[in-house]
Amino acid sequence: MNQGTLYVIATPIGNRADMGERAISVLKQVNLIAAEDTRHSKVLLQHYSIGTPMQAYHEHNEEQATPKLIQRLISGENIALISDAGTPLLSDPGYRLVKAAHEASVKVCPIPGACAAIAALSVSGLATDRFMFVGFPPHKQGARQNFYREFEHQVATLVFYESSHRIVASVKDMLQIFGAERRVVMAREITKLYETVHSTTLGEMPEWLQADSNQQKGEFVLVLDGAEVHTSPLLAELNQVLSILLEELPLKQASQMAARIMGMKKNQVYKLALELSGK
Ligand code: SAM
Repeated sequence: MNQGTLYVIATPIGNRADMGERAISVLKQVNLIAAEDTRHSKVLLQHYSIGTPMQAYHEHNEEQATPKLIQRLISGENIALISDAGTPLLSDPGYRLVKAAHEASVKVCPIPGACAAIAALSVSGLATDRFMFVGFPPHKQGARQNFYREFEHQVATLVFYESSHRIVASVKDMLQIFGAERRVVMAREITKLYETVHSTTLGEMPEWLQADSNQQKGEFVLVLDGAEVHTSPLLAELNQVLSILLEELPLKQASQMAARIMGMKKNQVYKLALELSGK
């Protein structure tokens, strides 16, 4: 008998109309929907007249539920995985199930759609050629500051999730660690009535947030500019790599190669190469 397929299906992050046609038709056709919260998803499924049986799949039952779901997939049933909002696995349950499906050679098929991180990044105006999704910082201040410190010299754009309870404290911690000049974009309530995209610096963000308590409500994504190469401790190493490459290669090629070797942004390395070569 043929094995079934595990469909990983994105659902809207606020605006129901963002539900894709393919998501609706697959959700109608599968044998079972594994949902993070069945009561929450029932509202969306009812709206689209999807009557497929549902089962809860969340962090508290995934260990027991995963092997049973894999058995059903192996026996030929098709199963859809959804979370409360957006793309499953992105700060949401599902990793264990998708990993187990691969281990059992079960086909895994994405039905893409909304994702708060990607939506925020796409309107941030910050570099998108290299970004890092970091999810939720820890709740307690000490742990949160240590967590931010890990990314102090990261040159890729950083994407964080944060809750309304901690948004002000979290931005103040960011200011301490990353400095007042760093650009930050807050994307709040994306696709909802009070959607706000605000681009500023970390120096200004806490005051802006505190000036209007409405701006502290709802759901948030924070997109933070990456570190400039010159603040990175890797600078000395980059200088050395570039100097050697510039002896043998034209400027453009040398900077592209150095960017690849060092895992840095091409345009930043190019600027440094220009300085080094005195152009
Ligand atoms: N898997 C989801 C996704 O693809 O975006 C994210 C789930 S995570 C548990 C929920 C967090 O995502 C929220 O606390 C918030 O940081 C962010 N988020 C979700 N929906 C959002 C929205 N409409 N606007 C801004 N942020 C949102």
